[in-house]
Amino acid sequence: MINFNVPPCAEKAYDYIKECVKNQKICGDGPYTKKCNEWIERKTGTAKCLLTTSCTHATELAALLLPDIGPGDEVIMPSFTFVSTADAFVLRGAVPVFVDIRPDTMNMDEKLIEAAVTERTKAIVPVHYAGVACEMDTIMEIAERHGLTVIEDAAQGVMSAYKGRALGTIGNFGCFSFHETKNYSMGEGGALLIRDQKDVEQAEIIREKGTNRSKYYRGQIDKYTWINYGSSYLPSDMNAAYLYAQLEIAEEMNEARLACWNRYYENLKPLADAGKIELPVVPEGCVHNGHMFYIKTADIGERTELIDNLKKNEILSVFHYIPLHTAPAGQKFGRFHGEDRYTTRESERLLRLPMYYGLKEEQVDYICDMVKKFYG
Ligand SMILES: *Cc1c(COP(=O)(O)O)cnc(C)c1O
Repeated sequence: MINFNVPPCAEKAYDYIKECVKNQKICGDGPYTKKCNEWIERKTGTAKCLLTTSCTHATELAALLLPDIGPGDEVIMPSFTFVSTADAFVLRGAVPVFVDIRPDTMNMDEKLIEAAVTERTKAIVPVHYAGVACEMDTIMEIAERHGLTVIEDAAQGVMSAYKGRALGTIGNFGCFSFHETKNYSMGEGGALLIRDQKDVEQAEIIREKGTNRSKYYRGQIDKYTWINYGSSYLPSDMNAAYLYAQLEIAEEMNEARLACWNRYYENLKPLADAGKIELPVVPEGCVHNGHMFYIKTADIGERTELIDNLKKNEILSVFHYIPLHTAPAGQKFGRFHGEDRYTTRESERLLRLPMYYGLKEEQVDYICDMVKKFYG
C-alpha cells in the first residue's frame, strides 16, 4: 500500500531527543527551541520567530495580539481552508467573512477582498494553499489602505516564497505548522513569525501565560510577574529537538519533495493536455515547496470513482476541505461575502495524491500509471 502521508523524520532526531532527556531539558524554550527559532529567523528573515504548540495556537496567539478585536468585528479569509484559520478569531467573538477563491491556485481571490471590507473589519488572513503564495502585493495594499492587520496562514508554506520573500514574513504575522502532515514536523507544533520588532514583547508575554518570564530568562529583569492576559503556547524541547534534525537538512528534504512534484507534473501533463484532468498552477514570482500534489477531476462523482480505483491498486488518495461556510460552525459564526462561484465547485474536484519525504520515483510513476489507466 502506498500511504498518502508518512510523517517526516531525520536520523539525528534520535540523538537530539536522547540529549534532551539526559540533560533534563525537556520543558519549553530550551536549547532546541532556541535553535529552531534562530534557524527560522535566519532562513526567512523575519524579525522574530516563536515556536508554538501548533499552527492553530500560533494563529490564536496572533489573534490575541490584535489590540481591540472583539464581538462583531470581522476578519476576511477564504472558506476553502482548515478550521484553525477561522477558530482563532471565532474564539475572540469575531465573525469570519469568507470570500471566494481563484480556481487556478485555490487561494483567496485578491480582487474580491476590498468589496468585503466594512467598518468592522480588523484583519485579512490569506492562506497559502499547497505552499503557493497568495497575491500578497495586492493584499498588503488593501490592508494598508484600510488600516488592517494581515496574518498569513503559512501552515503549508515553510520554504516557499513570493517575489523573493519567504511566506509568513510579508504580513504583520505569519503562522507555520509542524504537524505530521506538513513538510517539516515535530508531531504537533508550529511557529509564529513576527515582522515588526514592536510586536515581539507582547507576543512573548501572551505566549508565556501573560507573564514577562521570557525577559526574566534573558536576565533583563530580576523577577517576573503577571502583566497581561495570556496562555501557554510553548512546546516541549523534545519536540523541538525532533524538528531541528529536519531543519538541518531542510534543503535536501525540499528538493526531494520538489523532485516528486515535478515528476507527477511531467507524467500527468499529457492527461491534462488531453483535457481529462487539471494540474496545479504556480503563478510567476511564486516559489513553492512541493507541499502537495493535487489534480482536479471533472466532478465529485468522477473523484469518488478515482479514489476507489486507486485504493484497489493500493494507493491512498484524499480530498479536503469541506468549505467552512457550509459547515455547521461556519454557518453559526461566519458569513460568505459575495457569490460562491469556485469555492464549492473546485473543492469537490480536488484530489490529493501521495506526497511525503521518502516517496520514491518508482512509486510516483506507478501512481501516475494508475491515474492514466483510469482515464483509459
Ligand atoms: C495544517 C493546517 C493548519 C493547522 O495546523 P496545526 O499545526 O495542526 O494546528 C492550519 N491551516 C492550514 C491551512 C493547514 O494546512
